[in-house]
Amino acid sequence: MKSENRMPVFFVGHGSPLNAIEKNWITDGWRSISSKLPEPKAILCISAHWFIDDLQVLNTEIPRTIHDFYGFPQEMYRFEYPAPGSTTLSKTIYRLIKSKSANFDDTWGLDHGCWVPLSIIFPDANIPVVQLSIDYRLSIEEHYQLGSELKSLRDEGVLIIGSGNIVHNLSKIDWLTPDSGASWAVEFNEISRELILARDDDRLIDYRTLGETAALSIPTSDHYLPLLYVLGASERTEPVTIINDGCVFGSVSMTSALIG
Ligand code: ZN
Repeated sequence: MKSENRMPVFFVGHGSPLNAIEKNWITDGWRSISSKLPEPKAILCISAHWFIDDLQVLNTEIPRTIHDFYGFPQEMYRFEYPAPGSTTLSKTIYRLIKSKSANFDDTWGLDHGCWVPLSIIFPDANIPVVQLSIDYRLSIEEHYQLGSELKSLRDEGVLIIGSGNIVHNLSKIDWLTPDSGASWAVEFNEISRELILARDDDRLIDYRTLGETAALSIPTSDHYLPLLYVLGASERTEPVTIINDGCVFGSVSMTSALIG
């Protein structure tokens, strides 16, 4: 049943960390959703960059800003996103996860998959943020199931964000095409976008059966799995709004989906 006060869920294609300090069509798209969202009480972020062999809930009131990238301008390493955490929300997440046993962690913080888009969408950094790790030992279906177990957070004013990139193949990056994709990337971006709009979650879960463009687009699952948490945490009947539809640098899609 849809609650009147239910928060949407958001899958964000995060792309380059430089989006934190640049103004471009991607950051314009992110900024545009601020006006579409009710103010969340808190944010749960599932980021491609906390991809580990455990299911962990960040449990700290003061999450550090993690600069988990290399070779960027110094300005990027000084960037702080000083949002508070919420150990209350961390404990609620821990309780809601029924299909697996989760663990608390107070050593991670907010990685760039989380804070780069948040720094544009919620620049005041005053909304508490909690991260949940992606446990790479789990099956695709189990990730989707975890998303569904977190769904009720939306009725408590929590914005669930999955942050990755549907097309993400760094071995095929083409620095000469910053605003377009290779033909296979464009093709899979279109296939996956249409499956999201049609809420054909079963085929998105079985992405390995989607052919060669899927194999090229998802060589590893880390950047794809955040989408499955967002799908799992929403109803197939909810409206989908696509934002930032397109590819960059040949082999990364920025396509994002606001659901609900
Ligand atoms: Zn990334």
